[in-house]
Amino acid sequence: MLGIKALPREEIEAIFSLAKSFQEISTREVKKVPALRGKTLINLFFENSTRTRTSFELAAKRLSADVVNFSASSSSLAKGETIIDTVKNLEAYHPDIFVIRVGSSAALYALTQHTEASIVNAGDGRNEHPTQALLDMFTVSQQLGSCEKLKVLIVGDILHSRVARSNMFGFRKFASQIILCGPPSLVPFDCAEEGIRVEYDLDAAVESADVIIMLRVQQERQTSAFFPSLREYSKNYALTPRRLARARKDALVLHPGPVNWDVEIHSSLKWRVHPLILKQAENGLAVRMAVLFSVGTKKRTL
Ligand code: ASP
Repeated sequence: MLGIKALPREEIEAIFSLAKSFQEISTREVKKVPALRGKTLINLFFENSTRTRTSFELAAKRLSADVVNFSASSSSLAKGETIIDTVKNLEAYHPDIFVIRVGSSAALYALTQHTEASIVNAGDGRNEHPTQALLDMFTVSQQLGSCEKLKVLIVGDILHSRVARSNMFGFRKFASQIILCGPPSLVPFDCAEEGIRVEYDLDAAVESADVIIMLRVQQERQTSAFFPSLREYSKNYALTPRRLARARKDALVLHPGPVNWDVEIHSSLKWRVHPLILKQAENGLAVRMAVLFSVGTKKRTL
């Protein structure tokens, strides 16, 4: 499961129906099924994470897999071991699944050459974050009935966002229209050529959207100044009560987290938007259970 770009729509739908059936497990008193008993999963995170890492760990445990968590800062990487040698060494323990977050997609693809295990991409630099898009789309289809023919507005730091890229690939497979909105310096040039609408004025962009995906400003990936200041950014691109009032009453507002309140979304909107953002996190667990079950039992890359 390296990305949404190459994932057929039918596979996405199959993951959604599995996720739907797995949701119920988390409401049981004993939150565990033996679906991946005897399988070993290694969570390999070379970049920070809260939601993705913990939900993959819980998802694997709820399916009865054995889980090992590896974090770069406490490993021998700190002693100079390379990422590839690290994976080769972990490969010696015969894991079935690696869940990997790494700073570049070249590194992720290189790692695929050094393991027999299935690999799930948990974020490769600014390229893709497939399970985030799956959980976003799953949340939308639960709320609106489907992901079909919607207007999906993605706002903010699109240039550095793997979440934006995976969602663009995913929603377009369902004939949804993508509208991108952000400072011109943070919207990639080739988007318009790909048939994606680009809008720089957020006041206008929110009006017709069924779904509004707000993105975090990826300061850790910005190598130069893409806008004058965070204050200036939020003046033009934060979701405020005034802007949200221009949107459709039933428009869904999503955010992958972590949210920087008052930078991307005005904190006075917390009561309105946070419940659905937390629902995304909850759905992330069921979607990751579905993904792990698919790769763990099919023994191939999706
Ligand atoms: N958690 C998401 C990611 O890892 C979004 C973000 O960090 O802004 O890409």
